Amino acid sequence: MTNPLEESPIEPIAAADPSAIEATSPETPAPPDRYECRSCGYVYEPAKGDERRQVAPNTPFESLPETWRCPVCGVKKYQFNNIGPAGKASGFDENLGYGIGVNALTPGAKNLLIFSVLGLGILLLLSFYGLS
Ligand code: FE
Repeated sequence: MTNPLEESPIEPIAAADPSAIEATSPETPAPPDRYECRSCGYVYEPAKGDERRQVAPNTPFESLPETWRCPVCGVKKYQFNNIGPAGKASGFDENLGYGIGVNALTPGAKNLLIFSVLGLGILLLLSFYGLS
């Protein structure tokens, strides 16, 4: 008599291949982090710079002079929090594995998911007019 578990068609999980991870990593450098003012919520976007204080676009936050102030409320650089690059999944990193994968979606992907489901729901309701 054989053990039914030994005949299981489930393939063993392949060990992680470090060369595969390196091959999929992006060649371009990661986008620079954005910083949010703890006082007023203003977000410094490195891609935009700060027109009001003559900071050129594509200037990372770390390269701003120590005399730079929040263009909205005027607080100093140390009052800003790093909120990661644009398009990063929101929330704490340790929570990204929960929520059937939805937590790891970027804000744009979440918007697409939400409005797709809304659109499908509306189409379903409109389809009831086809019943007679
Ligand atoms: Fe501010």
